[in-house]
Amino acid sequence: MNWLVSILNFMPSLRYTVTPENLFRQEILALHAYHVQPASGMVKLDAMENPYHLPQEVRDEIAQLVADAAINRYPDPGAHQLKIGIGKMTNLPTGMDILLGNGSDEIIQLLAMAVAKPGAVLLSVEPSFVMYKMIAAFVGMKYVGVPLAEGFSLDLQAMLDAIKREQPALVFLAYPNNPTGNAFDADAIKQIILTTPGLVVVDEAYYAFARDSFVPLLADYDNLLVMRTFSKLGMAGLRLGFLAGAPAWLEQLEKLRLPYNVGVLPQIVGAKLLEHHDILLAQAECIKQERVKLFAAISGLMEVKVFPSEANFILFRVARATMVFEGLKQRGVLIKNLNGGHPALSDCLRVTVGTAEENQKFIAALQETIRVSL
Ligand code: PMP
Repeated sequence: MNWLVSILNFMPSLRYTVTPENLFRQEILALHAYHVQPASGMVKLDAMENPYHLPQEVRDEIAQLVADAAINRYPDPGAHQLKIGIGKMTNLPTGMDILLGNGSDEIIQLLAMAVAKPGAVLLSVEPSFVMYKMIAAFVGMKYVGVPLAEGFSLDLQAMLDAIKREQPALVFLAYPNNPTGNAFDADAIKQIILTTPGLVVVDEAYYAFARDSFVPLLADYDNLLVMRTFSKLGMAGLRLGFLAGAPAWLEQLEKLRLPYNVGVLPQIVGAKLLEHHDILLAQAECIKQERVKLFAAISGLMEVKVFPSEANFILFRVARATMVFEGLKQRGVLIKNLNGGHPALSDCLRVTVGTAEENQKFIAALQETIRVSL
């Protein structure tokens, strides 16, 4: 074969050129990257972050911890201190354990990797968090999205039919749901858990703003896992999420977790912030109060339909949504444009609940934008 190598070296044009298009899987080439809008200098209400700062004493404590941190060393692979803090604040039922992720996105990926046998199905509802579908594509799973019913409620019959037909290995239900903001009927979710032959993951990313949780039910269903993130509680920059459930599941998933997925700084800062959990929960309480005011203010606008929310954001429908979105941007306010993403979200925009001042700026900009676009 040496002669072939020599010919190819002299005539590179004969060589098969490797490109992303001919090397990468078709599912990856077909994906659109998760797009994040530039937000510098804007009133940033696009990503469900907590808008409040930490009190100066807590910031000083963190500064000291960071100054003393052994960043020359790999982090504790088991993140024991942080896990103890999470266990305490979550009131885990006895016998349940947790697995930590670099954000909960990473946990979705771990779960999908674990079940991705040929032909395995990942099922969720639509519209919901887009990463369920994207991650199914990353790992080569078949994705099934069951449309939500009127008012973005669960279509229980359609769900049960789809589960019987598709026999999913993995079901994700965001509770409350993103981007719609509502929490599905808990009894319907229980029926789904009982019918599903695989795992059901209740994604409680917005637990801090919701009325109830599936954590206390973990021991009642052997195919239930609950996932949470601290991103919405005021730690989006740390990238910390966790999965709670029976050790039999988590021990297997631990094998897929990369050894040092949670760095030294997120571990120590996260553990410290959980000691001050009361401050974060008080901030979440302010966000819930602001949500009520924001809901009323948007509802008061002409020709806008607002959807009820148990999360830290509000979905609303407005004529010419993309123009309104651009108008808000020109006025220095960044929210999320969902128009064009899914048919059920046509002319829909999603705004994160900010501080009172940010919300007022948003409402003023929205009023003005709607007035000039009429
Ligand atoms: N689940 C839901 C429902 C979400 O809305 C989000 C973020 N928008 C996540 C999970 C991921 O959060 P993170 O990776 O920041 O933990």
